[in-house]
Parts: sequence; C-alpha cells; structure tokens
Amino acid sequence: MELTIGYLYPVEMNLYGDRGNILCLVQRCRWRGIDARILPIGIGEAWPAGLDLLFFGGGPDAQQKGVVGDLLEVKGDSLHRDLAEGLVALAICGGFQLLCRYYRPAEGPDLPGLGFFDAWTVHPGAKVPRCIGNVVVEWEGTTLVGFENHGGRTYLGPGCRPLGRVLRGHGNNGADKGEGAVQANVHASYLHGPLLPKNPRLADHLLRLALERRYGPVELPPLDDALESAAHQSALRRAGVR
Ligand code: GLN
Repeated sequence: MELTIGYLYPVEMNLYGDRGNILCLVQRCRWRGIDARILPIGIGEAWPAGLDLLFFGGGPDAQQKGVVGDLLEVKGDSLHRDLAEGLVALAICGGFQLLCRYYRPAEGPDLPGLGFFDAWTVHPGAKVPRCIGNVVVEWEGTTLVGFENHGGRTYLGPGCRPLGRVLRGHGNNGADKGEGAVQANVHASYLHGPLLPKNPRLADHLLRLALERRYGPVELPPLDDALESAAHQSALRRAGVR
C-alpha cells in the first residue's frame, strides 16, 4: 500500500513544529511497510491530482496574507472540490483559519478564506491577550494534548462541528469550549506542538481514513506507542489534568 501526502505551503505555513505532523504520518506508515510520499505544494504550483492526505500548517498573520491569494486563485476550486469529495486533511491554526469563510486579522482588511468550513475568525486586536498555552481536549473518548498561540478567535456555523471539547486552554475562541473543526474528512485544530506525535490515535485515525478511501477496509497493525503515551501523559500532568 502507498499514500501520497500533500504538504501545502511548507515554507510559509510552519509554526511551533507543525512540520513534525508530516514526519509523524510518514514514519507511522513506514513502520507498517506502507510507502508514504510527501508532495510539497508551494506558491504558484498547480493543484495536484491523486492526493490521499493533505497537511496545512499554521502561520503568523503576515504569512497568511502572503499565501491567501495563491490559495484562492491557484488552488481554489480544485482544492475545495477535493475536500468536499472526501480528501482527508489536517489543518492547524492559521491553516485552519484560511479554510474558513474569512479571517479578520488584527490589522488590515479581511482575508477571504477558501470557505470550506462553515466558520469564521476574528482577531480582537493587539490589545486583547492572545490565546497562548498548553491545551487538553476531549476527543472520541480520549484526550488530545498540544500548545496554542493564536490571536484569532474562530466561531463555527451549523455546517461543521468542533473536533473536540476543551478541558484546559482556550480552544477556538476561549468561550464556547469548542476546539478545532471537522467537516467531511477535514480535521482542523489550534494545537501546535506538533499535534500528532503526542496524539498517535489521531494520527492513525487520519491514516486509516486515507487508506480506506483508497483501498477499502484496512487493518492498521498496532505500533509500540510507549514513548508517545509517556509524552502524552507528561503533557496531561503539565496541564494539571492528571
Ligand atoms: N495568525 C493567526 C492568529 O494569530 C494564526 C497563528 C498560528 O498559526 N499560530 O490567530
């Protein structure tokens, strides 16, 4: 079996170790003898066909302003179509915000987003403290751990549901306890760190979705996640949840 993993704007959109999510997905494939190919997709490059999984990292306002034109004009409809047709994806923070309807940054005009997620983001301005710190989220009967640092507050419309419920931290907007979003096979989160190495169940969930979309039902052989679980437990203790 093989998977092609698209990495959108790897140079511009990569904060707080986000690239580690790609390394994690690839390594968890290789440990199972699954051939994983990374396809960087940069500014000016046409939207590729045949992706099995897409990763879109975070970035400061300035970087988001630098990629949004290309996102809408070059990737635009093809990317939106593939996501709507079930392409499995993970988008983190600034990437998440650009898949929503719009992002109102601290300064300057609104950034129109791809409009895939029925959601929008507003930065309340530089005087309001950013959402920074360790985060614990309840997800599918277990927990996700990570680190957040964002000014924008995201609000979900009826068309998408949160990825999880905040137990510690701010999450989407510090008010409604929602963290991230899920719509079709697209998963989004404000959690950096990177997210996946300390949350192997989510990593395998994304891999299983991508493999099943290409090959039908698959059994993912379990891996020895002792290190990953120890890192997860340590993050829970640090956040005061354990
Ligand atoms: N620039 C966005 C914000 O501040 C996203 C930041 C990020 O990706 N960490 O909200």
